[in-house]
Amino acid sequence: MTKIQIYKFGGASVKDSLAVNNLAEILRNRLRKDLIIVVSAMGKTTNELEEILSKKLQGEDFSWNSANLKNFHHAICQELFPAAHPIFYQLDNLFTQLDNALEKPLSRLNYDEYYDRIVGFGELVSSRIVAEFLCHQELIVLWKDAREVIHTDSYFRFAKIDWEKTKKSAQKIWKPLLAGFPILTQGFIGSDSKGKPTTLGREGSDFTAAILATSLDASSVTIWKDVPGVLNADPKLFPNTRKFEELGYQEAAEMTYFGASVIHPKTIKPLANAKIPLYVKSFLDPEAAGTKIHENAPAHQVPTIVLKKDQVLVSFKVTDFTFIEEKHIHRVYEQLQELKLRVNMLQLSAISISIVIDVQLFKLEQLLEKLKSEFEIRYNEGLELLTILHHKQDEVGAYLEGYEVLLEQASRNTFQVVRRKM
Ligand code: ASP
Ligand code: MG
Repeated sequence: MTKIQIYKFGGASVKDSLAVNNLAEILRNRLRKDLIIVVSAMGKTTNELEEILSKKLQGEDFSWNSANLKNFHHAICQELFPAAHPIFYQLDNLFTQLDNALEKPLSRLNYDEYYDRIVGFGELVSSRIVAEFLCHQELIVLWKDAREVIHTDSYFRFAKIDWEKTKKSAQKIWKPLLAGFPILTQGFIGSDSKGKPTTLGREGSDFTAAILATSLDASSVTIWKDVPGVLNADPKLFPNTRKFEELGYQEAAEMTYFGASVIHPKTIKPLANAKIPLYVKSFLDPEAAGTKIHENAPAHQVPTIVLKKDQVLVSFKVTDFTFIEEKHIHRVYEQLQELKLRVNMLQLSAISISIVIDVQLFKLEQLLEKLKSEFEIRYNEGLELLTILHHKQDEVGAYLEGYEVLLEQASRNTFQVVRRKM
């Protein structure tokens, strides 16, 4: 029996009818049994759904946004299918479900659970359209609901995988099907023990591909992207980028840890543990080699630049004329952990703790509320965290020109700076 392969197509690879056609062309010579195709929501759909939620939360009218989202998908289908195709009923059905779900009251108290119910529609709609289109092109795939096998806890918006249960379901329910047909499914979504929809965190579809790969003992995962592979910097932000032919798991994980958006940070670890190679390839140039991330990649010294936007620098100053001690650090970390906030950078001085975190809805206020009686707290928003791996000392200055530097740190192998445009 051949081994299972996983393909993942992100939002950009299904952003319009041309893109969906291109996806079908990629699959034309590659489609086979024992293939799972994971797709994201189309284009910026997830952002749009978030916008709808934010309007709903503020009591604003979002009918224009939901009509717009429906029209967007409808227009794509009009370009892909003949007028009488059943996809149009399916679309109506899904958008009616979405409208109904949005009738229910939303408050800050039920926000996360509500979010997961709504935001997963992007993937459900997208996967329906792509599956129907492939079948229409005589590329027969089985549409499957990922929530049937991706089992999680109930930490809505950032659900944790129940690996054992997921593996069992994938082996029992999906594996036999794969002997007959390839499966097309959604990234990003799962369900908790009560069957409620959950999501795995923004951009989580790569992670879904890795979860399925390890659960089904796959031979490889391929992420199809709009870049030629993993580059040493985001080409949209920096000139003269270089592509890696190969990368070690460790190196790739480190890049994603610091914020490289080419692969979701949680993707590498399960694949590394199972020694499953990860290919990052261009959907615009599918024959090109892309990047292979695997165990035996040679080490390199190419400076690698990662930029994380929307950062907040929070400083906690002791108020009682003492110095920073372990107990202070412990208090701050305890609260961060409770709020599931990850520290991207940490610096200690005699009287203060400075941390850099991602901007996350409501979380900063909660953090400040919890610790304001113990520290004098200041924060700066709208910052960028720039990390350079394998930095060359004389080249670092170029990245600071025109920026105010709020925090800087360097080790032998890594340079980090928190900066703001002047
Ligand atoms: N559609 C989701 C998002 O945009 C998941 C993904 O694309 O991976 O965050
Ligand atoms: Mg997406």
